[in-house]
Amino acid sequence: MTISAKAENPTPTSPAQASPNPRLTPILGRSAGSLVVHEIYRSLQGESTFAGWPCVFVRLTACQLRCNYCDTVHAFNQGKEMTAEALFAAVMAFGETPMVELTGGEPLLQAEVHPLMSRLCDAGKRVLIETSGAISTLGTDPRVHVILDVKTPGSGEADAMDWSNLERVRAIDEVKFVICDKADFDWSIEVVDRYDLTARCPVHFSPCHGRVGLEELAEWILDSGRNIRFQIQLHKVIWGSDRRGV
Ligand code: SF4
Repeated sequence: MTISAKAENPTPTSPAQASPNPRLTPILGRSAGSLVVHEIYRSLQGESTFAGWPCVFVRLTACQLRCNYCDTVHAFNQGKEMTAEALFAAVMAFGETPMVELTGGEPLLQAEVHPLMSRLCDAGKRVLIETSGAISTLGTDPRVHVILDVKTPGSGEADAMDWSNLERVRAIDEVKFVICDKADFDWSIEVVDRYDLTARCPVHFSPCHGRVGLEELAEWILDSGRNIRFQIQLHKVIWGSDRRGV
């Protein structure tokens, strides 16, 4: 897909367009009511309690962060502009698949994602949004399941977190930590306890690929005594770590 970047004429409602961050250039200046989309595809949901279910993924372009383990760098710049109407139709064209996930990049950078998600809910879809935790989730339709990342120090982006997001999580939401080392694990346990997360929603810890062993993380979780769910990225187990569009 080609980049659609028209930096003139920014839409004032978008949090992305209020910022001069050059990482956001690919989504600046899009037409009113349009989104910049990296890819749309159907696969198995892989990173939540919904893991294993068929799901239509809408991956939106651009991210303001640069996590050092990011596996979707291809979404930073590549994308094409689509009207919300065309995007809705593209999702519905997948037919019976009841689950839709908005992801990225960072899908909340484009404010137009909110009415799109509401429309998909109205159409009877179960809608998930996977977000970095660095942008406010305020204004998200209450029917949408927010899958919220918490960026640990090992990611290199912990300072970017919008901590108010953790005060807003509800029972239908989920919180994810990618654990890069033991210091990350201990830091994450402190966050879990500070926000009483395990009493409020599912909490997932995933091992950062190549930096923490599966057995190592499993033992840390069990030793912690916390009700934390060990999570492996299912699509990587099935299709490998480099395959795109799955
Ligand atoms: S928030 Fe997600 S898309 Fe953005 S850099 Fe981090 S891992 Fe990559």
